[in-house]
Amino acid sequence: MIHEILPVGPLQCNCSVIGDEQSHEAIVIDPGDEIEQVVALIQKHNLQVKQIVITHAHIDHVGGAMKLRAATGAPILLNQNDYTLLKMLDVQAAWIGMATPGKVEIDQSLGSNDVVKAGSLAGQVLHTPGHTEGSICLYFNTEKTLIAGDTLFAGSIGRTDLPGGSYEKILRSLHDRVLALPDDTNVVPGHGPLTTIGQERESNPFLVKS
Ligand SMILES: [Zn+2]
Repeated sequence: MIHEILPVGPLQCNCSVIGDEQSHEAIVIDPGDEIEQVVALIQKHNLQVKQIVITHAHIDHVGGAMKLRAATGAPILLNQNDYTLLKMLDVQAAWIGMATPGKVEIDQSLGSNDVVKAGSLAGQVLHTPGHTEGSICLYFNTEKTLIAGDTLFAGSIGRTDLPGGSYEKILRSLHDRVLALPDDTNVVPGHGPLTTIGQERESNPFLVKS
């Protein structure tokens, strides 16, 4: 698997470019900003982007999606429970003092049991509400990799004080869906350093049982 992780924008959202080495088909996850750099990575590996997946509708994760769709022709996928949040991109831009990216159109909703594919690679969608109602994670089981969005971070979890957030729901999502994965699963959080399920199960202060 080709996997490039590029921190983009002022909040350094981890954008993932995941490609199949044989077919050169690819998925881009969370193209928040700096689309020129993302496109450069796609060209470097000679990839054809099939799907643009948004883990949740916060501006730092979705802000560059329309530019990437224009550059690649690939559809944009987001869980429908975040459509309300997506309509608030202007408000979100004001929160963090960013220019608004304009309207983002979603081509298709993604929910539990959906699978996104690039060649022989398959990412299973886990609906993990809590950080937002429509937050998802993507699990590539043959690659032992979880793209976690802002649900799980190294040593922390996503904030739940923004509209649509729920502390009870994020804990339930983490315990029922995320910690159900094997310990040797590599985790790519929405921001900051990589980690593993085992590491977080053992030491994440929000997850260890006291
Ligand atoms: Zn977020």
